[in-house]
Amino acid sequence: MSSTLLDQWGRRIEYLRISVTDRCNFRCLYCMPREGLQWLPRDEILTYEEIAAIVAELAPLGLRRLRITGGEPTIRPDLERLIGLLRAIPEIEDISLSTNGVRLPALARRFKAAGLDRVNMSADSLRPDRIAAIARRDLGFDPVAAATAAQEAGLDPVKINMVVLRGINDDEIEDFAALTLHHPWHVRYIELMPVGDLRELTWDHVVPSDEVLRRVARLGKLLPDAGPTGNGPARYFRLVGAQGTIGVITPMTHTYCGSCNRVRLTADGRLRTCLYGDHEVNLRDALRRGEPLAPLFRQALAEKPKEHALLQMRVGGLRALSQVGG
Ligand code: SAM
Ligand code: SF4
Repeated sequence: MSSTLLDQWGRRIEYLRISVTDRCNFRCLYCMPREGLQWLPRDEILTYEEIAAIVAELAPLGLRRLRITGGEPTIRPDLERLIGLLRAIPEIEDISLSTNGVRLPALARRFKAAGLDRVNMSADSLRPDRIAAIARRDLGFDPVAAATAAQEAGLDPVKINMVVLRGINDDEIEDFAALTLHHPWHVRYIELMPVGDLRELTWDHVVPSDEVLRRVARLGKLLPDAGPTGNGPARYFRLVGAQGTIGVITPMTHTYCGSCNRVRLTADGRLRTCLYGDHEVNLRDALRRGEPLAPLFRQALAEKPKEHALLQMRVGGLRALSQVGG
């Protein structure tokens, strides 16, 4: 059996993002309405054993790297059990987690012990009142304490993702960059994407990454950098003398679809080959019927779109990232 999977455009597919829940303990302005979304019924959500069974069947086809995401994955009980099940699949080389960080101080060591390699943590402000305003929840989140807990647990690299919002948190661009001077952390600035139900945000809130980089460069000389391990859509730089790096993720001003090596599994077991397309294959029902998944996977890859539809402005009705495993 081939161990390299190519889609119809010749891109090698080795990276699966797994959403374990569509629910969240935050209601970020750019992701979810205050009242939440229509949550999936629990029996539609894959069990940990079902997720592991899907990965075990697809891994021999070429999957090598996994990311556990959501919604907020750390609110699902015993997440370390899933991490352990995935770690036991021989082909899997790398397991990472995307989290809002709230529960990292309590859970980072358990996750590491179960086999988690690294973490991407979201943090849109370093100021408690503003964190609560952007997340629309005050859970006492302290980004520096959470990143420190992840680092001390041995998760490596620690990446911190900030969605930059003009007039809301863009005055903290330099503060986040300054974290990289004395910590081996990787701060990545994400351009706001106009997906989901952004009632309180508009295109005017998008801050282009070129502007972000100009502002970071006020702190010192900024040199291109290879960045941390785990290739993805970011472009990296380093302030001279800094321990960590700066990255920009630019879904709106530069597309990176040509190097896209990922597919997504939603919490209810649908394989999505593009974040913004509507191409979905239902792996859950096939698994529950005892049918083989490999033909469905190959079919989905044969249909993976060449690039996303956001830039053609066909954005209406797109699901929030929390629903598709952003
Ligand atoms: N709850 C976890 C978290 O916040 O990291 C994982 C899921 S969250 C949907 C994954 C990433 O998507 C986060 O870094 C978040 O900031 C980003 N995100 C969500 N909605 C976005 C939007 N409209 N534009 C840009 N980034 C977005
Ligand atoms: Fe929750 Fe993450 Fe969406 Fe914020 S970005 S509401 S933390 S899923």
